Amino acid sequence: MPSVILIGHSFTYPISDVLHLFYSATPIVGESCITVGDPSVRIYSQLSDAGISTWTDGGLRYTETSFPGNLPPNREVKRQLYAILNVLTGREYPWGSLTGIRPTQVARECLTEENLISQYFVSPKKAHLAVEATKGEDRVFSRLLPEDLFLYVGIPFCPSRCAYCSFISEDAGNRSDLLSAYADAVLTEIRTYREISCIKPRAIYVGGGTPTVFPDELFVRFYEDLFREFYKDREIEITVEAGRPDTITPRKLRLLKDLGVRRICLNPQTLSDVTLKNLSRKHTADDFYRAYACAKEIGFEVINTDLIAGLPGEDIGTFEHTLETILQLAPQNITVHALSLKRKAKYAAEIPDSFGASAEAMIEFSHRRLKESGYLPYYLYRQKSTAEGQENTGYAKPGTECEYNVAMMGDRHNILSFGAGSMSKRIFANGRLERCQTVRNPEEYIARAVEMARRKAEFFADDPVGNREERIKE
Ligand code: SF4
Repeated sequence: MPSVILIGHSFTYPISDVLHLFYSATPIVGESCITVGDPSVRIYSQLSDAGISTWTDGGLRYTETSFPGNLPPNREVKRQLYAILNVLTGREYPWGSLTGIRPTQVARECLTEENLISQYFVSPKKAHLAVEATKGEDRVFSRLLPEDLFLYVGIPFCPSRCAYCSFISEDAGNRSDLLSAYADAVLTEIRTYREISCIKPRAIYVGGGTPTVFPDELFVRFYEDLFREFYKDREIEITVEAGRPDTITPRKLRLLKDLGVRRICLNPQTLSDVTLKNLSRKHTADDFYRAYACAKEIGFEVINTDLIAGLPGEDIGTFEHTLETILQLAPQNITVHALSLKRKAKYAAEIPDSFGASAEAMIEFSHRRLKESGYLPYYLYRQKSTAEGQENTGYAKPGTECEYNVAMMGDRHNILSFGAGSMSKRIFANGRLERCQTVRNPEEYIARAVEMARRKAEFFADDPVGNREERIKE
């Protein structure tokens, strides 16, 4: 394993990201040296007036002399290190030296698939996907105004904890004492914010966790109050994640529809009962079919289903069965995730050997079949520790894309978020982005909801995108 000596620059994050891609150990970052494991190879990464060079004691050398060259220096440093490690290890990765979570941002700069391939060593298939997803994103961006505000409400409770989960979500069965107080705290946070500043969102996304986790009576009270806060009679995009079929009742879905919810997410992840049981999801494929039929009968405009490629114990045949069955149901949106196992996930400790088997083949299959079935990719992001270096892609029948998803990923619009662990984002006129974190622990959040609202009102004070005055007038 190598250590990388930095000369004339301090791009420690880019270097660490590339090292982490090739070696599972966490890089140790020193002032001018980054090491992974027991260093047996020394790599030198130099930035000087003459350009950027990367070389090894063993004689491998990579140089960009036309500095500043085609790429910004931090990306050129990554690209050269990737090329050296590719030779040293014989390994390559589908997204090449792109280690960030938003490849479409780079694809937009690159303009062509060829540039992505030559500048970042992205595989031809991924370059094609990135450019297609960028076009999909751009179709949605063209409908948005710079001043549009997007609203997120987080419900970090689930009926049980999935084995692959690394979110902050809590098992509602163990925390039922908190649910009612949490729902009240969210409403308190929103009302406190509204006393200080008006909120006029373009879209609302209620996510989690599992926002349908509340028992029926609490569910009715919470959602009637929540949506009363935000809209009167105008149509806005409202999405509710009804992700776990074991939390869905016809009464809940009917109420959401009556309250103006146009999009819901029903997420089986897989239609194998064996896998669902292993995931501790506490529902079956039949539960999903029933929930789906109910949602369809009630008449939501858009239903999204999330699937995961690379689940332990699944082979390509299992995944094909799941996707083909979902295609027969014909939801408007299908989102395909590559399994990501972060340290907090139960699976990460228990069955690492089966992690991510055949994920690449599953992802390729899903891309082909979804395209054939009239779905287009419209948002794409990557996570760390995903099966076989794959990505997550949202597909939609044209015209049914979720604007919130694109805005959230695009970093061009303000995101105002309520609820424990949620993150608000403010985009300044010069493109600068600042984040405002809400406390993560639900009990702490309940105690500090008013303070959180004031913190956010302060954070968005003197709204940089120019519509604050407009919103206050209304
Ligand atoms: S439903 Fe989602 S948030 Fe809840 S435990 Fe499962 S993966 Fe985590």
